Amino acid sequence: MTTSPSPTITFLGAAGTVTGSKFLLTAGDTRVLVDCGLFQGLKELRLKNWEPLEVDPATIDAVVLTHAHLDHCGYLPRLVKDGFRGRIHTTENTAKLAEVILRDSARIQVEDAEYAAKKKFSKHNPPKPLYDEQDAGRAIALFTADDFGVPVDVAAGVSATFHPAGHILGAAIVDITIAGKRIVFSGDLGRGEHPLLCAPTAIPAGSLDAVVIESTYGDRQHETPTDEFATVISETVARGGSVLIPAFAVDRTEIILIALREMMEAGSIPRLPIFADSPMALKALDFYRDAIDKGTADIRPDVQAEWAGRDPFDPGTLKELVTVDESKTINNPTQPCIIISASGMGTGGRVVHHLREMLPNPLHTVILVGYQAIGTRGRALVDGAESVRMHGREVPVKARIEQIQSFSVHADGEELVAWLKTASDAPEHVFVVHGETGVAETFAQHVRQSTNWNAHAPKAGETVAL
Ligand SMILES: [Zn+2]
Repeated sequence: MTTSPSPTITFLGAAGTVTGSKFLLTAGDTRVLVDCGLFQGLKELRLKNWEPLEVDPATIDAVVLTHAHLDHCGYLPRLVKDGFRGRIHTTENTAKLAEVILRDSARIQVEDAEYAAKKKFSKHNPPKPLYDEQDAGRAIALFTADDFGVPVDVAAGVSATFHPAGHILGAAIVDITIAGKRIVFSGDLGRGEHPLLCAPTAIPAGSLDAVVIESTYGDRQHETPTDEFATVISETVARGGSVLIPAFAVDRTEIILIALREMMEAGSIPRLPIFADSPMALKALDFYRDAIDKGTADIRPDVQAEWAGRDPFDPGTLKELVTVDESKTINNPTQPCIIISASGMGTGGRVVHHLREMLPNPLHTVILVGYQAIGTRGRALVDGAESVRMHGREVPVKARIEQIQSFSVHADGEELVAWLKTASDAPEHVFVVHGETGVAETFAQHVRQSTNWNAHAPKAGETVAL
């Protein structure tokens, strides 16, 4: 037994990048991992998923998960494959969403390995998946669903309390006490303008040793919503084209559907068929509908009052495409319609087929509505690429490309600082994570200037004593 219980935090991921969130809390022999995300985007980042974790997974007592996005939960099956046997604490809806996301991720890992085997470009011989569906199943079996607002003991001397973060369904700010030190993790923080979710919970009062805060948009101020979305859709329809919206399966699809229903009801866009074409998105839609009916702690009370028992996502033209054959019926549509399909950065899933068919046609429009990481097709489109590589060939980009930022479910710089300032006491440390290089440093400086607190953007692998 180690005698010194002085807790430390080690930044195993989402330091110098926006993906791979993993924060290790250690006190004596106790180890708790907060988030367990995949690195995504550039190849050099994705390769990091293959490096052994800096700590033996078998020695980790528990995982605390803030939300179900892959960059926060996607490494869990690998952690279990490599020996982790503790519980994974999270909220009920995060557990439900993470199950869908992890099974899908496992399937993609296996398919990619099979593809690499066929094309013989893997360094593994034969190529192996990072994890498979069995590993995902074993990780899912370790989930423990906890209620919002109720402290739970996750390991010896470690308690965690989840509070609504307003980012996606189930997403939490986590308030952790370890060996007498208190540390609050923002997880990913919403904006307080979500059409369905409550605003991020203020930092609960009391003395505070550290806050770990995301900074995805820490160097930016979100644009105020305009009627650009309606204008772009109407212009596309007027010239006989269709609109493709690559959208993250979880949450972004819901927000877009709400916006489309409201615009159709207001008459600002024509009534058009809307196709929701992502099996994962359709499952997530049902979790949202269920949460609205039940009125879970993170659903806005006014939304529950108005929509419980009704469907806020369907203006009467929504068609849910479950099978691949159904999906193929809308490849390169000849009648104007709106297709919402995952993945949101065009890196995989059914949207790749739609992009391949629609990008070469100048009648159509592709509207990117989410964060586009460096190295993804979505980013290439936003950056004005004349062609993008798909299924082994160059696909010319002739369709109109638009990016609409106002659907962001991440707080911007001012919103992040406003949330930090909800703390009743100055924290000893503010650790700025989950930002691309430069952004986290810029935001840390912003925090120092506006609060006088000790804010710093840790480097990957850095350990700090609390
Ligand atoms: Zn997220």
